[in-house]
Amino acid sequence: MQVIRLEALSDNYIFLLHDSQQNIAAVVDPAVAEPVLRKLAELKAELVAIFNTHHHHDHVGGNQQLIKHFPQVIVYGGSEDQGRIPGQQVFLQQGDRVLFAHRTAEVLFVPGHTRAHIAYYFPPATSDEPGELFCGDTMFAGGCGRLFEGTPTQMVASLGKLRSLPDNTRVWCAHEYTLKNLQFALTVDSDNAELQRRYTEVKTYRSRKEATVPSLLAIEKRTNPFLRWEQPALQLAVNSRDPVQTFARLRGMKDRF
Ligand code: ZN
Ligand code: FE
Repeated sequence: MQVIRLEALSDNYIFLLHDSQQNIAAVVDPAVAEPVLRKLAELKAELVAIFNTHHHHDHVGGNQQLIKHFPQVIVYGGSEDQGRIPGQQVFLQQGDRVLFAHRTAEVLFVPGHTRAHIAYYFPPATSDEPGELFCGDTMFAGGCGRLFEGTPTQMVASLGKLRSLPDNTRVWCAHEYTLKNLQFALTVDSDNAELQRRYTEVKTYRSRKEATVPSLLAIEKRTNPFLRWEQPALQLAVNSRDPVQTFARLRGMKDRF
């Protein structure tokens, strides 16, 4: 399974999963249909699945047009999103498994950004390959999603689930927000040498308009402030000793950053 990253709208990423043996594809969070249809035509592949993480328009906006072109496509989303995702046929819960080509994804229920948000995790196919995590707007490279429908307690639990995946997991998040996220991260975790290095690196990438997604979970664990609620440096920065309160205060500061 090859993951192809497509750009859409101002800063969205759409991910196309392609199996060249069977010539089939699945798409994660099609914000719009056009770039997906173009790539499918180029690959001469048939779209068999749409994997939605949550109902926001910049994640499901292409569903209807893709269904029109591929009437057989199966549309997956979270069970709590019933009625909010166009064309949804499969209603997934924590622990469910979905198949694509020869791979199986585990469904993680990760409410917080929305109350129904789910993530898809493909464990590595072989021991020297990375796993693939499609986490929508729950975790970003260097950041996390805003809390529109969930509480800090829920989001800490959700990010905790993502954080517990193996280090060698590629993080395919749905937006290119990395530079701004790391700028914020440095204001609350300024002594973190790896974060400083990462920021310099990302600044170079972005000056060349290169994508910073996927990132690697190992790097997120060491540099993403929204996975580091029990780190003394971050607790000190927000004057708290409580993990959830630390997270909530960081998120509040980022909202105003
Ligand atoms: Zn969203
Ligand atoms: Fe989004």
